[in-house]
Amino acid sequence: MSQHAISVHNLYRYFGPLKAVNGVSFEIPHGSVCGFVGANGAGKTTTMRILASLDYPTLGAAEICGYNVVSHPEEVRRLIGWMPDHFGNYEHMTVVEYLDFYARALGYKGKERRLRVQEVMEFTDLVPLAERFSNKLSKGNTQRLGLGRALLQDPQVLIMDEPAAGLDPKARVELKSLIRVLANEGKTIFISSHILSELGEMCDSLLFINSGRIVHHGDAESMKRDTDTEGGLLYDVQVLGNPEELSAWCLLHPKVEFVEARRQGGRLRIESAELTDAAEILHRMVKDGLKITEFHREERNLEDAFIDMLGKIDRGEAIGPKPPPMPELQAFNPPSTES
Ligand code: ATP
Repeated sequence: MSQHAISVHNLYRYFGPLKAVNGVSFEIPHGSVCGFVGANGAGKTTTMRILASLDYPTLGAAEICGYNVVSHPEEVRRLIGWMPDHFGNYEHMTVVEYLDFYARALGYKGKERRLRVQEVMEFTDLVPLAERFSNKLSKGNTQRLGLGRALLQDPQVLIMDEPAAGLDPKARVELKSLIRVLANEGKTIFISSHILSELGEMCDSLLFINSGRIVHHGDAESMKRDTDTEGGLLYDVQVLGNPEELSAWCLLHPKVEFVEARRQGGRLRIESAELTDAAEILHRMVKDGLKITEFHREERNLEDAFIDMLGKIDRGEAIGPKPPPMPELQAFNPPSTES
């Protein structure tokens, strides 16, 4: 078995002058869940379509479990489940007929096919909707059907393009729990989404793409840390007492900011580079008789980190791996499909 479930090396995809994917490299280990994040038009779908062997790169290589997506598309298609952001449903075809149709296309026959369709419907909770027309489902159930279709051949690698887009909170939670079950089964999952907080919770790593380039690959914590422009820790402190006296105390202590007056006191913020700094300031507050009612570290969320990262990129500050040198692009000739 190859070392990585997904491996991408210096991948380029140009549409005329538009550099949709511009020198992308990354690796995703077997059995991990990786979130693919980026603004609209950043290059997520284009990268995913190449991985799913639905498009050719202009240059560079992409492999699924060691199989090159251009030279070995059939092996790749046997290994992956692909859930596109939009997919067509057929009129007058029920849920069970829809899944049966795709199971047949995948080569399942007779009893084995019926069993597989039933298993997938049970997993995606589509059994009660088996006889409903597939083009008349709600958005959430349509996504379940798309997931069911992608799971029919029990893929090792699941590639999901924006599966949570347009889902209501309940449907998002349900989708997330299905993804968790699949991850626990050891599948590799590559999932794009705009809902960063949810991705942070369910992904082992996050891959951020901007204008066709990878700008960050790591876990949610490293993402928050690497984009922290303040470079310090923030603590929120609620204190009882006269707001004017609290404000005067803060003026004497430069690392403590008086944020706002409250009915019975005020809210202060400690900014410090080190944990020991914060501990010393807290000790000083207690010694000076400040009546602290609440003290907690402020967490940056992934949305903050993402916005900070885009700001850094706009300001031209280096972030993420150094882009590879631009190669001379040559016309790519896709392999002949004639046998
Ligand atoms: P979104 O979140 O909006 O789906 P994305 O990150 O998936 O965005 P892509 O769909 O990969 O972005 O598109 C990247 C860029 O390539 C966009 O500017 C898009 O308009 C362009 N693009 C994608 N496919 C084609 C195509 N077949 N022909 C020309 N341009 C294309």
